[in-house]
Amino acid sequence: MAHAKIGIIGGTGLYEMDGVKVIDEVQVDTPWGKPSDSVTIAEIENRKVAFLARHGKGHRFLPNEVNNRANIAALKMIGVEEIIAISASGSLKEEIRPLDFVLPDQIIDRTWTRPSTFFGDGVAAHIGFAEPFCPRLHSQIKPAADMTGIKMHTGQTLLCMEGPAFSTKAESNMYRSWGCGVINMSTVQEAKLAREAEICYAVICMSTDYDCWHEVEEHVTIDMVIQNLRTNSEHARNLLKNLIRSMDGERSCACREASKYAVITAPEKRNPEQVRKLRAILPDYF
Ligand SMILES: [Zn+2]
Repeated sequence: MAHAKIGIIGGTGLYEMDGVKVIDEVQVDTPWGKPSDSVTIAEIENRKVAFLARHGKGHRFLPNEVNNRANIAALKMIGVEEIIAISASGSLKEEIRPLDFVLPDQIIDRTWTRPSTFFGDGVAAHIGFAEPFCPRLHSQIKPAADMTGIKMHTGQTLLCMEGPAFSTKAESNMYRSWGCGVINMSTVQEAKLAREAEICYAVICMSTDYDCWHEVEEHVTIDMVIQNLRTNSEHARNLLKNLIRSMDGERSCACREASKYAVITAPEKRNPEQVRKLRAILPDYF
């Protein structure tokens, strides 16, 4: 099976850019089922990169229907050590304008129907999640955004909501009162599962519009929304190119040992079936 150390989770078409050579389309089967789609392995700046469309090609899955465990496990099984996630997000602050990018460093979880762990079922474990994103990736993403000429806000809190309906005005204003900068429906499970699988993870949020708290003066048309989505994905492609060039793969951060001391179930009491599943993503411990 083709291998790649860098993984990108995002929309489709992110790898459709100049200088990108598609090498392979890999179907991965994981102990948690199939990921959202086949994984595209491509070569960018002489690095192998694995692309996975979070919602499947053609956007077939709602955020609560995405099999996040299979997505993260599939990337891990093809050798991915670092994930850059891309997410269209709503803005909760006036200064985060449509088409700005946000690199959040904290999350508040407002999801409630989705599996958020590989553990359980006879193997109990607790990972640290005080800092939900890889600080080392963050130190590479911001300079790459500056180099690309993208306005990127840092030090923000991301609100991850259940959906699929967008928030009410009361909810949106509550999230604002909590100090949140952006809102989406897809990050918290990816971040937790990547941490458990000892993969470095960071999310780049692309602001598409203001969340519903904002009293819009200007009439928003479908054309404007589509144009913003197009501009955002063009910016994301340019950013990824500069970012991948600067990623050195040196994993000096703690992510690579995140689950090393997390498992608390005594070895002789562990459910053998669950141990077999976990071996696919954490072969050093199971
Ligand atoms: Zn890391």
